[in-house]
Amino acid sequence: MTLHIPFDNSFARLPEGFAARHAPDPVPAPRLLAVNRPLAADLGITLPDDDDALARVFSGNALPEGAEPLAQVYAGHQFGGFSPQLGDGRALLIGEVAPQNGPRRDIQLKGSGRTPFSRMGDGRAWMGPVLREYLVSEAMQALGIPTTRALAAVATGETVQRETGLPGAVLTRVAASHLRVGHFEYFAARRDTPRLHMLLDYAIARHAPDAATPLDFLQTVIARQADLVAQWMSVGFIHGVMNTDNTSISGETIDYGPCAFLDSYHLERVFSSIDTGGRYGFANQAAILPWNMAQLASALIAAEPQGAAVLEAYTQAVHAMPTAIETAWLHRFGQKIGLARAAQSDRPLIDALLGLMMRDGADFTNTFRALSGADPAAARDQFLDRAAFDDWAGDWQARLRQEDDPAALMARVNPALIPRNHRVEAMIQAAVAGNMAPFQELSDALATPFADPGDAADLTRPPTAEEAVTRTFCGT
Ligand code: AMP
Ligand code: MG
Repeated sequence: MTLHIPFDNSFARLPEGFAARHAPDPVPAPRLLAVNRPLAADLGITLPDDDDALARVFSGNALPEGAEPLAQVYAGHQFGGFSPQLGDGRALLIGEVAPQNGPRRDIQLKGSGRTPFSRMGDGRAWMGPVLREYLVSEAMQALGIPTTRALAAVATGETVQRETGLPGAVLTRVAASHLRVGHFEYFAARRDTPRLHMLLDYAIARHAPDAATPLDFLQTVIARQADLVAQWMSVGFIHGVMNTDNTSISGETIDYGPCAFLDSYHLERVFSSIDTGGRYGFANQAAILPWNMAQLASALIAAEPQGAAVLEAYTQAVHAMPTAIETAWLHRFGQKIGLARAAQSDRPLIDALLGLMMRDGADFTNTFRALSGADPAAARDQFLDRAAFDDWAGDWQARLRQEDDPAALMARVNPALIPRNHRVEAMIQAAVAGNMAPFQELSDALATPFADPGDAADLTRPPTAEEAVTRTFCGT
């Protein structure tokens, strides 16, 4: 049986100038590492039971009928500096599906070979980042956080040269779209106003059909990104490389590179080896997103009639973002301590807990999970200064008397399981050695992060000093 995908490729129908048509480079020996059957079913794709056939499709060796592979062009601010042309350098959009019962989605191969936008890169990916993105993006989905998805991972049988030779792989990624802030920056920087308008019309139709103006569109993107960053922070997620080319228009988490999760809580935690200034550190994420939205605003202004009123309206929209993030943050963190609708007056209670956690190096996930459970002593054990925790817990209990069912709320929002960095690294090492069991074990457990972990209890354990991951890498 050959694989049938009901493609309907709207991006490929745009006029020239948005993408380069390009076929994937064949790989020597495709071997299926993982496939996401529930996601395929959601997309209206029936997968054959033949792993070899799936490996051929999801490596790019045998694209299904109707695929129109292309590399998108975009620009981006990388660590604050503008790169006027980036684009898909190691990925190809192969097409879109628009199932009856769900939104239109892109299907992309990542690691599929060089494209006209590869610059110095080899267009390939190795197994580590491919499996990390697969696992972490699916974990984010299970945590209820908007994200691109992973449909398949295939080993290529090719060695990819990084610091050392590593096994190559291709990820099949599914996204509400791959439109990034950088797409708008690309056309704005080139003063290509006709294409900027076309892109805007396309993005509005796909992602903000209620937006009547470019400014409405900007505000829709800002609202989504504000909620997204609050959700990231509420599970201790650090994206690690929030360049504007890695900031999506749809509001999904995209481009999992050196991402990591907090073990012990610290506002300034940074894992990414290239983020030497901490630009994309844990708490700074909330400050950088408005910066990224300012870049989107600057690009969109180029599509508007020039004038002080327009400038003022766009400025206001961006300046409103920190408050939107604060509101979203307060809502999420309020819920984490059992407050259904936290008010500004609850902020000191939340800050006091986080302050103690940071001072004592409490485990982020386990502290909130323990607070949600029947065993408050387990939360207390996270702290060195037990008396300070007890004081806080007294204030907290007093506040909780105004809530209906805080325990149920907290159990719903505080996961027992996150993809802990040391487990992800161990999973990658095992996979490289040919053992996919840790990948399967982690994937299975992370599919239900709010459930009692049962047999997977060891996955809730923070790393020992030897296990702790201190740096993460883009891995490109
Ligand atoms: P990233 O920040 O990792 O999402 O990548 C930034 C840019 O570098 C994008 O335009 C990528 O397509 C490109 N890139 C990253 N890795 C490679 C690679 N191995 N080969 C070609 N281009 C790459
Ligand atoms: Mg990227």
